[in-house]
Amino acid sequence: MRTSFHPRLINDPFSDPGLFISFLYEKRALLFDLGDLHGLSPRDLMKVSHVFVTHAHMDHFIGFDSLLRVLLGREKKIHLFGPPEFFARVEGKLAGYTWNLVQEYEYRLSVKVTEVWPQRLKTRIYLCGERFAPPETEEEEPFQGTLLQEPSFRLEGALLDHRIPCLGLALNESFSINIDKQALNALNLPVGPWLTRFKKVLHEQQDARRPFVVSWKQRGEDEKTRTFVLGELAQRIARVSPGQKIAYLSDMAGSPENLEKAENLVRHADSLYIEAPFLERDREIANKKYHLTAKQAGTLARKAEVKRLILFHFSPRYTDVAEELEKEAMEAFQNQ
Ligand SMILES: [Zn+2]
Ligand SMILES: [Zn+2]
Repeated sequence: MRTSFHPRLINDPFSDPGLFISFLYEKRALLFDLGDLHGLSPRDLMKVSHVFVTHAHMDHFIGFDSLLRVLLGREKKIHLFGPPEFFARVEGKLAGYTWNLVQEYEYRLSVKVTEVWPQRLKTRIYLCGERFAPPETEEEEPFQGTLLQEPSFRLEGALLDHRIPCLGLALNESFSINIDKQALNALNLPVGPWLTRFKKVLHEQQDARRPFVVSWKQRGEDEKTRTFVLGELAQRIARVSPGQKIAYLSDMAGSPENLEKAENLVRHADSLYIEAPFLERDREIANKKYHLTAKQAGTLARKAEVKRLILFHFSPRYTDVAEELEKEAMEAFQNQ
């Protein structure tokens, strides 16, 4: 299936967890978790608009500094989400540096942070120009599962139990629009930035009878434009298919209620990225550490009827037997 989102794990399954989701045809990406980010280039990090941190254990949050380092001194707004007490974690990081010269910067970074509570979202904004000092005010709004809503997607979160609250995440694409290149050629229209604008207008479900201006520029020539009726152009060149769902579960206990909550969040996902730190034979250790076993991960995926299962966050004790984790999870997943 073609889709507008391209997810990839940042590291191998024994290294820090993290999922980088880039947007096709746009210089934009979402990031799930902030562990070791060395697998991403500064160019990748520059694309990130929103970061969802499942919880602030070190393997999920040590990359905050790398991200900040790349963004500092740029005209950029970044929005981070995290579980309760996330403000204190971010403020602690920001307090670790001296900011006496940043007011001189021409471009000023702003860091927006949202704490996710069971029924509320609390938001604070930290400004480079104010040396990232904790703001005096914060905003609050009700939370019913949706963390971020845009015309082309909805991002849902649920607080799971990892002995601390930990965010489970699901990205739901509204619908996917692909462009028929042959139809485009038949109309003598070139590809270009206008296609991003065109898709945006379709995602916003604007009036199909309104005019849509296609504009493009070829080297050394003046800008050219052609005007179409939006609905007619869409019928000629756009192919609409159901949206994709990408889910991410890291660091959660295998208690029945936790599993059920996670199952509801990830139901019918096309791709489920899920932790599988321990083998079932080490269930006792998994329980003590509030983590899943590979079998629990596979069973959860089967019950939630996900299409594709991708495992990560393996315990280093299995360095030589990673395939056992894969096998155990896949058997539980496929077991009808
Ligand atoms: Zn953890
Ligand atoms: Zn972890």
